[in-house]
Amino acid sequence: MPGFVDTHHHQFETALRSQLANGILINDGRPANTSNYYDTILQGFSMVYRPEDVYINELYGGIAQLDAGVTTVMDVSQIHHSPEHSDAAIEGLRDAGRRGVFGYFEGWGDRAKYPADAARIKEQYFSSDDQLTTMVMGGEIYLPGYEEAWKIGRELGLPIALHVVGTFGMQPTFDELGAAGMFGDDNIFIHMTGMSDDGWKYAADAGAHISLAVPIEMHMRHGTPPIQKAIDMGISTSLSTDVECTMTADFFTQMRGLITLQRMFANEKALSAQEYPELMQCMQALRHATMGGAEGLKLDRKIGSLTPGKEADILLLDAEAMNVAPLNNVPGAVVTLMERNNVDTVMVAGQVKKWKGQMLGFDLDRLRTELEGSRDYLFEAAGIERDLFA
Ligand SMILES: [Zn+2]
Repeated sequence: MPGFVDTHHHQFETALRSQLANGILINDGRPANTSNYYDTILQGFSMVYRPEDVYINELYGGIAQLDAGVTTVMDVSQIHHSPEHSDAAIEGLRDAGRRGVFGYFEGWGDRAKYPADAARIKEQYFSSDDQLTTMVMGGEIYLPGYEEAWKIGRELGLPIALHVVGTFGMQPTFDELGAAGMFGDDNIFIHMTGMSDDGWKYAADAGAHISLAVPIEMHMRHGTPPIQKAIDMGISTSLSTDVECTMTADFFTQMRGLITLQRMFANEKALSAQEYPELMQCMQALRHATMGGAEGLKLDRKIGSLTPGKEADILLLDAEAMNVAPLNNVPGAVVTLMERNNVDTVMVAGQVKKWKGQMLGFDLDRLRTELEGSRDYLFEAAGIERDLFA
């Protein structure tokens, strides 16, 4: 099958895996949620990253996902505290050897150069379309100055990606931008939870793309994943893993989250004798996990399907494995039975990256030790105690 395409992954958080496994997005006043994504990760950990932390986190997270068959990622790293941080993010993304879309988002502090440094970054690293890494501009509408980021992105011909989350109070701004005709087919809207019908119509009419992180949205209170809305509106939709501090970046989990939740809502309507939408089929879940992402990242001429002339990002999956055999339905086996250890062989642009279950070309023990070193520094610098059984 074609490689999986993840359209939104904060790879800089790899060293923080499962640190916030029980966390939600923002503090709701309950003692259990004092530690939450906004306060602990964005306002805490992310502030203390050094360029070397950014690099090893990006690299290790990228290799780990490649091992699981995710051959393309859009990385969303909000740690652009200096140009050196940005360079480290790009180099970590590139050195993993897979297809990577560098999402240039915000940073903090005196040396942060977002968004103006986008021109330098594009010229230095992304001047050619004929390479594995490309660039997207981040333009968060909940942060002051997003207008400038959108303007720079469009001047540079970059797609513009942003989180769109009702619980952050974004709906009025989103509606205003849509009404003002600011949306385009260069927009990637992440989550799209809690938005108005008008907002959806503006997005659909503009040909924008939607990235759904279904397990994370359910787990962290982003709002109900708008799977059915996206289907009903006919909007191009992809899947994304978001944050490994709270949930795995594995794509089998993504597909099962998508298909079971869509069917749960439809089945509930059927049981209460209401009209209900078509039940999602396994092949549709696979399409969201591959071609949907390729469309969203403007890479569908290169990847997303096994088509002559494309660039051969290909997975070989083991249908004879103990958890899969005997094979009776191909998309069904992939979506409902398989796991990351069934990914036997991985190619990116025709280059073999994993062969018969083994990643090629990396000293994984050494990299894991570096990641652990980064983890130790991050916890200490952020003043957060590591509690293995919290
Ligand atoms: Zn995100």
